[in-house]
Amino acid sequence: MHRRLFLQALGCGCLSLGFSSCSTVPITDRKQLKLIPEAKLNAQAASIYEKIKQKEKLSDDNKQLNEIKEIGKRLEDSISEYFYRSNMDDPTAGFDWEYILIDNKKVKNAWCMPGGKIAVYTGILDVTKNTNGLAAVMGHEVAHAVAKHSVERASSRVATNVVIQVTDILSGGKLSTVNRTTGMNTVGLLTQMGILNPFSRKQESEADYLGLIFSSLSGYDIREAPKLWERMKKSRKGKETPEFMSTHPSADNRIKKLNEWMNEIILKYPPIKQT
Ligand SMILES: [Zn+2]
Repeated sequence: MHRRLFLQALGCGCLSLGFSSCSTVPITDRKQLKLIPEAKLNAQAASIYEKIKQKEKLSDDNKQLNEIKEIGKRLEDSISEYFYRSNMDDPTAGFDWEYILIDNKKVKNAWCMPGGKIAVYTGILDVTKNTNGLAAVMGHEVAHAVAKHSVERASSRVATNVVIQVTDILSGGKLSTVNRTTGMNTVGLLTQMGILNPFSRKQESEADYLGLIFSSLSGYDIREAPKLWERMKKSRKGKETPEFMSTHPSADNRIKKLNEWMNEIILKYPPIKQT
């Protein structure tokens, strides 16, 4: 009972707590809870990222990696430029961007850790197919980081006092199944950062929306985004990948929304000219 009241106070947020634990997501203006210092989470992410670089097999396809870095650079620059021109604080100011391509065809995934540490798995390149498709995926993942979704998630974990029992899960639970079927060596590490747990529906939708905006600002053709999710939907059918690995669920609804936002975003957020 008391606990519920406490959670409600946290949920509606902000004022009742009386200190700066709440902020708003730029552009969407959604209120979010932030109890964990962002710098702390970024540092933690950076150290886990280093371990992942050691444990996973990195691709030697430099041409592909360069494309990833080029898309990333355009996203980085246009995001900063957009916030600069809008006279808003750049949410990526403390980021230390980095990109890796992990050689694992079984994993159709990509992620961006808090602070801008990005990984693309070779498996998702069969689905992205082209530069605009890859930009759509990267725009979406970067949007999670720009909107500080991990900070928010870690904060609500603190608020609800839920502890992820990584060791329990690893000793024969779902995650070790993932490990076996996908050949990922870093399942435990990724779980610590919340990478393998789906974001909330609200956060996913927000990342879709912001991702479209960032891709459009960067000069990519965002009409590829709904096509990409169509391909993603097909590629997932009949695959052995465990259900909860699909960190990006509900394809139909998301495609519908992407199409709804499309024209407005193309008009409102044209490619931003970079100096
Ligand atoms: Zn997402």
